[in-house]
Amino acid sequence: MNFFYECDALTRAYILLVAFVLGLAMGSFCNAWAFRIVNGGSVAKGRSRCPRCGHELAAKDLVPLFSFLFLRGRCRYCKAKIAPRYLLAELISGLYYLSIVWAYGFSLETIRLLLLGSIVLIMSLVDLDTMELPDSLMIAAAMLSFIRLAEEPANWHSMIIGPLPAIALLGLVLIMDMLLKKESMGGGDIKLLAVFGIHLGAANCVLLLVLARILGLAASALARRKKAEPFPFGPFLAAAAWFAAIFGRKIIEAYMSLF
Ligand SMILES: [Zn+2]
Repeated sequence: MNFFYECDALTRAYILLVAFVLGLAMGSFCNAWAFRIVNGGSVAKGRSRCPRCGHELAAKDLVPLFSFLFLRGRCRYCKAKIAPRYLLAELISGLYYLSIVWAYGFSLETIRLLLLGSIVLIMSLVDLDTMELPDSLMIAAAMLSFIRLAEEPANWHSMIIGPLPAIALLGLVLIMDMLLKKESMGGGDIKLLAVFGIHLGAANCVLLLVLARILGLAASALARRKKAEPFPFGPFLAAAAWFAAIFGRKIIEAYMSLF
């Protein structure tokens, strides 16, 4: 067991709070990174600016969550409304960090999953704007999986089998596309599913695909979208992978015990 689970309840609560705040800050960074991928410009160079009035933002405008609440969701300089999705992305990032530390404590696995989550958050934000999942981030997410070998050398087994459901799905999609003469699932989504397979294993890969489909169908029913209109599937895969990372192992064990 790791150090986190040996702490008393108060210390654990404090650590989770720190994880949440760190997640908020990383969420703010992911927002900036995604914004610059979509709109151009480098992340390292240049200060953050208001997208409408172009005013350079001061440190006090960039405090995650609190700046948004304090400024009531508006730019301090031109009073333009800041899209609530920036706040939402920060909150999601904060909750993700908290949940991963809660589930995995202090471990190499935690570091890997936190970094993976932040890369996937940037990808999801870009996907919402452009309907594309950038390959550079996909490669970074895949490379990150090599940390699994340091966690447990025997993991190489799971890393090879992990993406097989995604590869099977790719075959199925190619056949479907040929028969229906239309694209039924984006190539980027299948690549992302394969990356989740390498990180979380084959069983989780199947579980999260089913879950992402249900979430996607529910969301499109809620939004009452026409079937022909495409919508980004990446964020649904990401949400399902989050669930699988936290609860997947227990669900799969419970399922296997039925036989
Ligand atoms: Zn402004």
